[in-house]
Amino acid sequence: INPNNVEFMISAMDVSQYPGENKNEIALSGRSNVGKSSFINAVVGRKNIARTSSKPGKTVNLNFYNVDDQFLMVDVPGYGYAKQSKKDRQKWGELIESYLTEREELQVVVQLIDLRHKPTGDDVLMYDFLKHLDLPVIVICTKSDKIAKSKIDKHLKIVRETMEVEPEDIVIDFSSVDKKNLPKVHEALSKFV
Ligand code: GDP
Repeated sequence: INPNNVEFMISAMDVSQYPGENKNEIALSGRSNVGKSSFINAVVGRKNIARTSSKPGKTVNLNFYNVDDQFLMVDVPGYGYAKQSKKDRQKWGELIESYLTEREELQVVVQLIDLRHKPTGDDVLMYDFLKHLDLPVIVICTKSDKIAKSKIDKHLKIVRETMEVEPEDIVIDFSSVDKKNLPKVHEALSKFV
């Protein structure tokens, strides 16, 4: 990926605004504050193309990025944001459901989980929904730099067991601070684009 050839395309509120590029898409999903923007920045090699959120979960738009003309990354707004209004939650649900169920360009969903904590009910629900739709999922466990090396495997096991991750879905521990496992992430993504 050439970082200089990565660009923000559009913040789409509905289907009519999705790009008509016909390129494969990778969607990113996770709880607000899980480290999704930091992950996008790390993967494409840019410092701040995806803005790290000061107001987590406020937006209900899909943000599309053109990644070096190879594929599009689609930033799905975070879930589990306590202060979201009921109306916003409904709008979020409609947007996500229509994108995930109808978008033919979508190849895989990257679901981000905070490695420090046991996956929440929302995390499990989202994973179950993705599997219900028969979508391949890459589980990225973020903020691994916050965990002692000797405990990482134990935390990964808790994630696998709580989410009941299916054998075909890969689980990777990652840190956007020290870029741990970035090559592994690129390799996993490359299988879908
Ligand atoms: P988003 O809301 O999911 O887009 O999350 P952000 O990328 O904005 O990150 C939320 C907070 O977690 C910010 O303060 C980040 O600096 C921090 N953060 C994100 N990734 C990591 C990581 O790998 N390690 C550490 N230590 N902090 C991280």
